[in-house]
Amino acid sequence: MSLLASTKNSNSLRKSLLLSRPKLAAFLTCARRFQLRSLAHLPWPIAPDDSQATENMTQGQQFHLLMERHFLGLDVPLSSIGDTAVSNWFQAFKNSNLVMENGRFLPEHRLTIPVGNHLLLGRFDLLVVGEQDGAPFAHIYDWKTGKARDESVLRQDWQTRLYLALLAEGGGALWPTRHSTNPRSLQPEAITLTYWYAAEPDAPRIIQYSQAQHARNWAEIQAIVAQIDDHLAQDHWPLTDEWAHCRNCAYQVYCGRQEAGLARSQSSEEADEDEPDWLLEPNLP
Ligand code: SF4
Repeated sequence: MSLLASTKNSNSLRKSLLLSRPKLAAFLTCARRFQLRSLAHLPWPIAPDDSQATENMTQGQQFHLLMERHFLGLDVPLSSIGDTAVSNWFQAFKNSNLVMENGRFLPEHRLTIPVGNHLLLGRFDLLVVGEQDGAPFAHIYDWKTGKARDESVLRQDWQTRLYLALLAEGGGALWPTRHSTNPRSLQPEAITLTYWYAAEPDAPRIIQYSQAQHARNWAEIQAIVAQIDDHLAQDHWPLTDEWAHCRNCAYQVYCGRQEAGLARSQSSEEADEDEPDWLLEPNLP
């Protein structure tokens, strides 16, 4: 092995990453996509002529900003909302029968926890934390403006699995004065995630976590991170064999996969969650 290659490999091995849902999803879809996005930091643009995707993304972002203001206690008059769709979603939320927990409201709250040599990051649309019968609880609310999905599908989604695991492993830090054997952790049974869909405002998908689910979930997350470490150590990022994935990928030209063709534009849902968190990615010692 050349000195240059050896140095490159040892640098890759030492590299500490900030891993979020989009990054885990990218890695599981295609190791090369993960490398181009998370290590080479190539931007992930929406196709310039895809006006519908751009509008969906803009409306989704506007709605999330409105909800953040609302839960910060700021007044949000409907007349101040210029976009009819966004205004209708907000009205639907206010008229919905969604039951909110009593507790401390933390809109747009971020949580990071260590996993191996890396950090896992989640950003919750709204986190409500409190105590019930003397025991702490945490409830995540996630606002969705795209097509509603079944609870069974959502349970398998990496957003669900990562968010619940983050709180189970690190949510205890939200109670700085709490005494327990592991002050960073939170009982999985005390954690709930609610997806609220503007398209189905009176049918929230409520997902309760459990110790058994967390044991499986956390083991799988650790295994994926170990796989990422293996790829970092070898600096080996193969292209996926599934050409169907390339149809949704902005990096076709880097891989010579233009023959895969282009699929329909990404939904506003994916755009909502796909924040450019690589901008915040540290190179930890
Ligand atoms: S075009 Fe295909 S092979 Fe290349 S990064 Fe995207 S998904 Fe992976």
